[in-house]
Amino acid sequence: MSAVPSPTVTLSNQFARDLAEMAVPWEAEKAPDPRLLVLNEPLAAELGLSPAWLRSPDGLRLLVGDLVPVGATPVAQAYAGHQFGGFNPRLGDGRALLLGEAADAEGHLRDIHLKGSGRTPFARAGDGLAAVGPMLREYVISEAMHALGIPTTRSLAVVATGRSVRRETLLPGAVLTRVADSHLRVGSFQYARATGDIDLLRRLADHAIARHYPDAAEAQHPHRSLFEAVVAAQASLVARWMLVGFVHGVMNTDNMTISGETIDYGPCAFLEAFDPATVYSSIDHGGRYAYGNQPVVAQWNLARLAEALLPLFHEDQDQAIPLAMESLDAFPRQYSAAWSDGMRTKLGLSGVSAVPDSRDDATIPSLVDDLLTLLREDRIDYTSFFRRLGAAARGVTGPARALFPDATAFDAWLERWRALGPDADGMDRVNPVYIPRNHLVEAALDAATGGDQEPF
Ligand code: AMP
Ligand code: MG
Repeated sequence: MSAVPSPTVTLSNQFARDLAEMAVPWEAEKAPDPRLLVLNEPLAAELGLSPAWLRSPDGLRLLVGDLVPVGATPVAQAYAGHQFGGFNPRLGDGRALLLGEAADAEGHLRDIHLKGSGRTPFARAGDGLAAVGPMLREYVISEAMHALGIPTTRSLAVVATGRSVRRETLLPGAVLTRVADSHLRVGSFQYARATGDIDLLRRLADHAIARHYPDAAEAQHPHRSLFEAVVAAQASLVARWMLVGFVHGVMNTDNMTISGETIDYGPCAFLEAFDPATVYSSIDHGGRYAYGNQPVVAQWNLARLAEALLPLFHEDQDQAIPLAMESLDAFPRQYSAAWSDGMRTKLGLSGVSAVPDSRDDATIPSLVDDLLTLLREDRIDYTSFFRRLGAAARGVTGPARALFPDATAFDAWLERWRALGPDADGMDRVNPVYIPRNHLVEAALDAATGGDQEPF
């Protein structure tokens, strides 16, 4: 059929071998009529996979889990997790498989993972499937996050399976091929801890160190160093979410990675009107995962990671707890520093300490606080505002002023800000022109579900 020669795709099975207790060898459900909806060619190239081959019948078989690469042992990964605060000791991949790890162009291992590949022993009441809309949604939002420079799992492809999925209505089914530095989660450690098998917990921690934080292996206390590295990675990640206006939506501990990548794009979205109380998940009644709550939740999740790791911190648990607390205490400081630096840059003020007047430490923080109050009070569009403020830094204040129903208070703010000499070019480099706006994403997914992929 195809003139494209079949390369031998080789993957490693390190997770499956190192952590067999957390890996259930499993097979994908057969896709009756696989059809490629979208392929990420630059990412394929990074992984040394030929886009032309991935488009061939054998390539499609790989992308739906029907062709198992040489060296691979596809597994459903076990993990636990706190979901909306309640602990479940056994979640795991209910509708996903880790195919194996690929070495990228730089020699780093990247997980190749299929989502929507059929029921596994962790499926509970679920059907193991995924619909075209949500998988294309993960594709577009994760790739937007990557384009915005935010650490994230990536999307290699979405393949329609030709099988229908029953939700409120019958929908076309799909498999997403996800690529990640790894799928180790806070919940992976909670699972290992809950088994009571300290050797397993230690092997998991060592696996995470080897894969993500090799420097920790050289530290005096490698496992504490691992924890501190995760704290730092998450502080930086969540600061980036906040600066760009991203709301994850389901920050359960099984949806928080050890690598510091954003994972699991469900009811997520980018803020429009600036309001810390913004929630996009219809099941998040208490606003647990609201935009403004994300830093607090991240720290809460990291406390759960610390609990899971306690036996590795010190053999005497009474001594382990203060060690864990000390490491966790870095989170608010690291988060605030990353967020404040980022906000200064968004306002074009990162170099402004050279201006004599601004040596007063409170000048910029109070400017930021006052601005956020103005944005919240008038529910100003967060992304448009910062872009238009770049023009205001060049003296064109009309577009930013026009966002406010009454610009009197904003004018006073503008005067204080412009007196500091903001750097318009610097602002344009960090304040996005484009975000995946929810109404456009939804329109594109609805069209794609109906067979029209043009808007997508
Ligand atoms: P998520 O909300 O996507 O993070 O998933 C939470 C848990 O539910 C994980 O264990 C998933 O594997 C599982 N899950 C979600 N949807 C399905 C489904 N359709 N079939 C089986 N398991 C599912
Ligand atoms: Mg999840």
